Amino acid sequence: MNACTEQEKIKLISQGILIECPSCKVNLIGNKTIGDRNKYTHEFKQIFVISSGTYPDHYRCPFCNSEWQLNEWTKFFAVTDVDKHICYLNPSLIIKQKLDFNKIALIKKLHVLKSRVFEIMENSVTKSALKNGADTVTQIEFMLQEAWGFTKDKNFHCWFEVPKCTCPKMDNRERQGTEYTIISGNCPVHGE
Ligand SMILES: [Zn+2]
Ligand SMILES: [Zn+2]
Repeated sequence: MNACTEQEKIKLISQGILIECPSCKVNLIGNKTIGDRNKYTHEFKQIFVISSGTYPDHYRCPFCNSEWQLNEWTKFFAVTDVDKHICYLNPSLIIKQKLDFNKIALIKKLHVLKSRVFEIMENSVTKSALKNGADTVTQIEFMLQEAWGFTKDKNFHCWFEVPKCTCPKMDNRERQGTEYTIISGNCPVHGE
């Protein structure tokens, strides 16, 4: 039998079938009878238990006995910086782009980096500091496109979403993917 590939694991995670125990880190396969679960039971024999009754959303690891709730499933796709929630990565896009665990980890790191540059920009007052921040964000956006397996294309960047930018949001969002942009002359980041 073929071993479950990383892409297949990611698909099982997105379907809520496979989860890494948040406490002891063993891979557990769920008892939902959907998808290709039976194809992988030889690999992930550990079946986790859903406790019934009062806590229908509680799961228990048969190895370490730790319990967790439904939201642990979504954590794989969540990007966080310590306690700060940044965003969720799109599971279908991850599967479509055939990303592996390393690429997902890289994408998460780049989002954390971008969020920290945003924080620096929020606390910046000088035009040069803001422009430097925006340039760094552009470089991170290019790295993100590469990590996702997309063409590196500046026209798809959300450059107008950086802190302190006063350029029109809707108009620029509508023009995404084209080379047309609308810069507000008095924008502290992009203006003159
Ligand atoms: Zn465990
Ligand atoms: Zn701007």
